[in-house]
Amino acid sequence: MTSYLAPAPQPSVRVRAPGKVNLSLRVGPVQEDGFHPLVTIFQAVALYEEVTATQVPVGAGISIAVDGPQADRVPLDETNLAWRAAEALARHTGVEPDVALHVTKGVPVAGGMAGGSADAAATLVACDALWETGLPRAELAVVAAGLGSDVPFALLGHTAVGTGRGDLLTPAMTRGEFHWVFAVSDDGLSTPEVYRRFDELTAGQARDVELADEAPLMHALRAGDPHALGAALHNDLEPAALSLRPELERTLTLAREGGALGAVVSGSGPTVAALARSRQHALAIAATWTAEGAADTVWCTTAPAHGARLLT
Ligand code: ATP
Repeated sequence: MTSYLAPAPQPSVRVRAPGKVNLSLRVGPVQEDGFHPLVTIFQAVALYEEVTATQVPVGAGISIAVDGPQADRVPLDETNLAWRAAEALARHTGVEPDVALHVTKGVPVAGGMAGGSADAAATLVACDALWETGLPRAELAVVAAGLGSDVPFALLGHTAVGTGRGDLLTPAMTRGEFHWVFAVSDDGLSTPEVYRRFDELTAGQARDVELADEAPLMHALRAGDPHALGAALHNDLEPAALSLRPELERTLTLAREGGALGAVVSGSGPTVAALARSRQHALAIAATWTAEGAADTVWCTTAPAHGARLLT
């Protein structure tokens, strides 16, 4: 009699990391190194990227597969931020970069909501567990900052103040839950292009950024007051995004006419974020955007959400 033993499944690790909305984004004048100093308040939203890292034979290298909405717009080579994160962690820890990555997109692509950064953060946590490299979060955050300004926040989650390039983070105190609705465009905006337009519009003379300007917003967060938060939403990149996509003005107006507590372009756009009073109200704004053809898709969610976390 012959017995057949199925091959044991390869060990794998699954991690979830959130997208974000910038409650406020203040952008200073471009510096000699080409970067802009920022003061921003990030809030993680409950739209998640999921990354599964699976062990592969030694020497197999990195591979990546992507599914979920808009997956066809994501690169499958070494330019993918998840791939770069695995490479960076391997380099940092001296292990061989051998892993199969599977990314399930849950955050709009090129929508100013840092979906790629969430993939990078999730990959760092997943590979750290799979390769048993055991880096403390603070060290993972250093590797994260080398991958992009938004990656450290996707590790941390919740709500945080970002300074420097947005990568120097201080957690912010918040109370309660906020209801968000996002108008997402199939046609993304390139973040560098939005910054270039910002430089043109401000003629390189943007006002210096001040943390003190965020006092009303921080107070609204501490009080858990969505009305005050809505009034304090701010984005210095909004004029640049609107000049590249004038139709977003109507999306903002429709949200305000629908009673949104505040509406703002999310990060570098073209996603528009509206703060609603409740889930019902968020759905009503979403219905208006859909009926008026103001968005290709609408996404309702809550915030704040947790940072990159292992799923058991
Ligand atoms: P950010 O606000 O952080 O600048 P974003 O949210 O506007 O980014 P992403 O979805 O993170 O945009 O990605 C922007 C571009 O980066 C995409 O158009 C894609 O070509 C490329 N990219 C690289 N890796 C990824 C990834 N894992 N997921 C999505 N896009 C990726």
